[in-house]
Parts: sequence; C-alpha cells; structure tokens
Amino acid sequence: MALIERKNDKQVVNPSLMCAIPDDLSPSEREGIIICPACGGANPKDAVFCVSHQCHKALGEFKYVLEELQAQKNWIEKLADKVTHFIAKPHFIIIHMLWFAVWIMANEGYLGHLPYFDEYPYSLLGIILAIEAVFITGFLLISQNHQSAYSEKRAELDYEVNIRSYRKLIELEKRLDSLESKNPIGREGEPEA
Ligand SMILES: [Zn+2]
Repeated sequence: MALIERKNDKQVVNPSLMCAIPDDLSPSEREGIIICPACGGANPKDAVFCVSHQCHKALGEFKYVLEELQAQKNWIEKLADKVTHFIAKPHFIIIHMLWFAVWIMANEGYLGHLPYFDEYPYSLLGIILAIEAVFITGFLLISQNHQSAYSEKRAELDYEVNIRSYRKLIELEKRLDSLESKNPIGREGEPEA
C-alpha cells in the first residue's frame, strides 16, 4: 500500500499510513514541530526528511524527487525494482545452489527412481539459465536507469536548495549593508564614521 496514491491524476495521501501528532505534547513542544505536507505527520524541529519511512519527504518548500519518481513509475519499473531487490539477496544464490544440486542429482540417479530428464551435459538447464540471464540483465538495466534518474533528480534538488540559500544570503547581506549605512556601528580598531 503506497502512502501517496494517484486518483484522477491527483496525488492523494493514504490516511491509514499517516503518523498522527501525539496528544500529550506541551504547547512549547507543539510549536517546534514541523508538519509534513505530504503525510501530515509530526516531525522534530531539526528534521530534514519526514520521519515516516513510507513518506520520507524533504521538509522544505520544494518538490521532492522521490515521490515524483514513484508516481511516474510504470509497472515494469516497479517489477524491475522488486526483481533487482530480490537478486541482491543471498536467498537468490541459495535457491540456485539447491536447484542445481537437485537437478544434477536427479539426472545422475541419486534421487531414487526419478526419470532422467536432462542428462549430462545438462543442456536443458543451460537453456533455462540463458533465458533467466536475459531477463535478469533487462530488469537490472531498467532498475539502474531508474536509479540514475533518481540520483540526477536528487542532485537537481541539492542545486535548487543551494541556489535558494545563496539568494537568501545575498538578500540578508544587502539588508545588513543598508542597516549598517543607516545606523553605522563602530567596529574595534576602525574609526567611527
Ligand atoms: Zn511525511
């Protein structure tokens, strides 16, 4: 179940996954809280990302790439991510080891009276593995493409935040300069104007 679902081309937050604000908070604690615009959950005042693992939105006045990319994902990309996630686990190797062991033992006559279906050099096994390799390569590439798109978007977000910070800093500097020119502050070692 996704936290943010698409309904009629609109992003809708799934209410069952929202993290509610605890009732026992004092007013001062309540003041510092950042409410996540995506899931409505409460976050500590120093939080950069939403604490909800399903949401994890960047808590700023900018779009967040993860939810944007999740919404754009089609079924093949979702499937590719799941397959890649599974391949990266040790279970994948263990299943293959067991499979090969049973296959070879069955065709060498070690498993009782089972009929031989793929005798040495196990060409049927070879064909199945070649087909599997083609699919795995495809899924890995799809998932990798998505990952690099995510990294690019993330870098774009970093850039956006940097530019916004830079502009704010320049604005503050200008305000400070104008304040100083209106009301000169005597600095140590400098003659007062
Ligand atoms: Zn959130």
